[in-house]
Amino acid sequence: MKILVINSGSSSIKYQLINMEDESVLAKGLVERIGIEGSRLEQENSDGNEFEIVQDIPDHEVGMELVVNSLTDGDKGVISSVDEIEAVGHRVVQGGDSFDKSVVVTDEVKKEIDRWASLAPLHNPANLMGVEVCEKLMPHATQVVTFDSAFHQSMPEEVYMYALPYELYEKHSIRRYGAHGTSHKFVANQVAKEIGKDVEDLKIITCHLGNGASVTAVKNGKSYDTSMGLTPLEGLVMGTRCGDIDPAIVPFVMDKEDLSPQEMDHLMNKESGLLGVSGISSDMRDIIEGAENNDKAKLAYNMFVYRVKKYIGSYVAAMNGVDAMVFTAGIGENAIGLREDICADLDYLGIKLDAEKNNVRGKAIEISTDDSKVKIFIIPTNEELVIARDTKELVAN
Ligand code: ADP
Repeated sequence: MKILVINSGSSSIKYQLINMEDESVLAKGLVERIGIEGSRLEQENSDGNEFEIVQDIPDHEVGMELVVNSLTDGDKGVISSVDEIEAVGHRVVQGGDSFDKSVVVTDEVKKEIDRWASLAPLHNPANLMGVEVCEKLMPHATQVVTFDSAFHQSMPEEVYMYALPYELYEKHSIRRYGAHGTSHKFVANQVAKEIGKDVEDLKIITCHLGNGASVTAVKNGKSYDTSMGLTPLEGLVMGTRCGDIDPAIVPFVMDKEDLSPQEMDHLMNKESGLLGVSGISSDMRDIIEGAENNDKAKLAYNMFVYRVKKYIGSYVAAMNGVDAMVFTAGIGENAIGLREDICADLDYLGIKLDAEKNNVRGKAIEISTDDSKVKIFIIPTNEELVIARDTKELVAN
């Protein structure tokens, strides 16, 4: 069975065609700058063959047609007909409390994705557009949606509620939903496999540290708490997001700087975090390099590390212990010194990193010392594979 995994954004479509017999990636690619000048597609096939198509791509339908043509092209393609694609798995950012698992697309499901767009205005409409274009271009294929929020639906009420007037929850569904669920679930399950135990018998802290970053407490295979909230703004210091701040800062700054709600939202989501503090970059590589001779870059780095450490400590308390910890995503998989700094001085909690084993990038590996009570791992995340597996299972049933 061949499954196409789609991540449709507002101006881009990322895709992977996966052969589910052996879970190998036949081809992966990206359509970018949809609707703007300089639109293009790039694709890399499993045999190493790479190509680029530069052409006008006014909308997602034209973009998806180009994807299908690139996959089925007589010379450059990897399949002979679009009919070989048995199902399409789509990433959807926000499913609110309507979905705790992946589902086959129906009209009702599409209505719900549209309804939850109020909480993910940049993502859900683009995700839905991807679904509708694929329905049109591949009517034979089963369409499945996987939600970033679904894994966190297991959080208990006292964890997901905010201490605001209860009626705001009733009227506007204001509560914690979390994000990166597919990634947290994947790496937690991989860790259980590495340890050789059932994930249901483990307490795991998963650190997804990318441009967007979140930490999750995974208790007995389920998300118990996570650092992102109603939106991805809450929690860790991120590339351009501030993460946790005193909420009183919001009206204070709006008043002092004469900002509208939209401008304040932009300031916290796009102008803050590593970029806002350092003033040089949102990219952790630049921050690490800059920290050598720039005090603000050093401060941004230290704040990032401290916030992760604080969440780890609080989740050990929340779960009454921890058996394993895992680092994933761009920063988590690659930033050697940063992993060391996060794990430093956590030996009271039984967390001891082995500096030698830790001297590695992007590999699934255990990096704790032999006497560390808590096992520490790096696991490269693979959200596409989770989406493909969920899709396969739903098609089979
Ligand atoms: P997202 O998917 O959220 O856009 P990624 O998971 O791709 O983000 O992670 C991007 C981040 O990973 C960037 O901050 C980048 O600097 C960081 N990163 C990538 N490689 C390294 C590295 N070798 N050392 C430190 N940080 C790295």
